[in-house]
Amino acid sequence: MHVLVLGGTALARQLAELADAAGITLSYSLAGRTRSPQNAPGRIVSGGFGGAAGLAEWLTAERVDAVIDATHSFAAGMTANAFHACQSRGVPLLRLEPRSWADRDEGWSWAEDHPQAARLAAQSGADVFLTVGRQNLAAYLEPLRGRVVVTRMVEAPDVTLPESWRLLLARGPFQLADERAVFAGPPALGCLVTKDAGGERLDPKLIAASEVGASVVILARPKPPGELAVVHQPDQALAWLTSRT
Ligand code: NAP
Repeated sequence: MHVLVLGGTALARQLAELADAAGITLSYSLAGRTRSPQNAPGRIVSGGFGGAAGLAEWLTAERVDAVIDATHSFAAGMTANAFHACQSRGVPLLRLEPRSWADRDEGWSWAEDHPQAARLAAQSGADVFLTVGRQNLAAYLEPLRGRVVVTRMVEAPDVTLPESWRLLLARGPFQLADERAVFAGPPALGCLVTKDAGGERLDPKLIAASEVGASVVILARPKPPGELAVVHQPDQALAWLTSRT
């Protein structure tokens, strides 16, 4: 059985390790944007497939039996491509992603997109902790220009940050003590903007935000491209795979 895992997340790596240990032949794909990607078992395929059509060709050429889309919940382009490619070639597809926080009642403000999140952060009047990734910063530059913003990401952004912003370059996972230190400052931060990464437990930065009474703006996940089979745990994805052998 040849399985393609669309990766770039901790869950994808966990699944790849489980599947590899179970003797499943794996290809593990990455967008190829990070200059220091983390290792995963199986054959690494990096740099994309060339849209849904390119992926469909690849699935057939490589005789892929099943695809697990374990990309980040905000990698909407890849998820849509996987959906359409698998549908066109009749390849079973499973989505593996952390459970959304959308049902939680935490008093957060939800934003449908980055411009709305930027407006909400600006309206908070507080100094901001911005953790939305380097590709999305452009939407925040003007609304938060002249404001105190601490923004954290793995690699430096392509855009020039305003002088009042501070860049933290770091790769997670982060512990509660790390996040408390960020909020404590200086500057002490009073607003957090982050994505609905989801998961069974609250992210430490959300706990730290709540401890200091910071307002929280959460970006809602993009809508799925269609009806997707979804699981939230790597072992559920492995069970789905082994049920097909
Ligand atoms: P995206 O906008 O959905 O994808 C854009 C294009 O990048 C896709 O059409 C595809 O190119 C390529 N691509 C994306 N993920 C790929 C993968 N796993 N394997 C092969 N090609 C991939 O994706 P994105 O939001 O830029 O995310 C890129 C990667 O970073 C993903 O692997 C994702 O899991 C990871 N990541 C994203 C976020 C986030 O917030 N978006 C956070 C953490 C990690 P082709 O059309 O040429 O196939």
